[in-house]
Amino acid sequence: MRNYHTHTRRCYHAIDSEEEYIINAIKAGYSELGFSDHTPWRYHSSFHSSMRMEEDKLEGYVKTLRRLKEKYKNDISIKIGLECEYFPKYMDWLKEIIDEYELDYIILGNHFDDSDETGIYFGRPLNKAQLKKYVDNCIKAIKTGLYSYVAHPDLAFFNAQDPYYYEQMKRLCLCAKEYQVPLEFNLLGYSTHRHYPSNGFLKIVQEVKNQMIIGVDAHESQALLNKDLYFQVKSFLESLNIEVIEDIRFFR
Ligand SMILES: [Zn+2]
Ligand SMILES: [Zn+2]
Repeated sequence: MRNYHTHTRRCYHAIDSEEEYIINAIKAGYSELGFSDHTPWRYHSSFHSSMRMEEDKLEGYVKTLRRLKEKYKNDISIKIGLECEYFPKYMDWLKEIIDEYELDYIILGNHFDDSDETGIYFGRPLNKAQLKKYVDNCIKAIKTGLYSYVAHPDLAFFNAQDPYYYEQMKRLCLCAKEYQVPLEFNLLGYSTHRHYPSNGFLKIVQEVKNQMIIGVDAHESQALLNKDLYFQVKSFLESLNIEVIEDIRFFR
């Protein structure tokens, strides 16, 4: 059992320290745990985001995780990553920090359009143009080759019965398939009854035959203890003939 979608209190809307997540992951029997807290961005404006770590917290995040990786090396494998949007004007900076901090991976969390300084949040009801923008952004992100998988691909809030939803989300699924990028089944959304994971979206995944990965999206260390949910969801997806994978691509 592995999970690559883990937050920490550094992003201000999660609780618990890195070590508390690791201890619970070991308790639950995870063989590998990847941290993917919300990335900072080096904004060109004075904008301040309250849902992500600040840039000056990044070093502490990575250092803490490297120390804990060593401390618990006999019990669990730790990977260090970030959950990142696709903000075109800041992508060069993102690539620099991936190298500077020798991150293992990043996942795509396409929360905002363009940048959260000005762009809309995609998890609220969208019109057609906004849904299309969501999918366009995901496709551009996938094509960079940087993201190991797409977190909550069905975050876009739109009527899943609408043919336009099918048409747009199918473009996302086809691109992910072509670039062999897995799509996440998000356990946080599932256990808190959010609009995602969406059954309408899963039908498209089934049809396109995408690979899926289960992401806990842990915002509290307790979430890692619920392994029954993990295996229940795995069986559910397999009963739909969806391939559930655990291997993801790493930078190094
Ligand atoms: Zn997210
Ligand atoms: Zn997340």
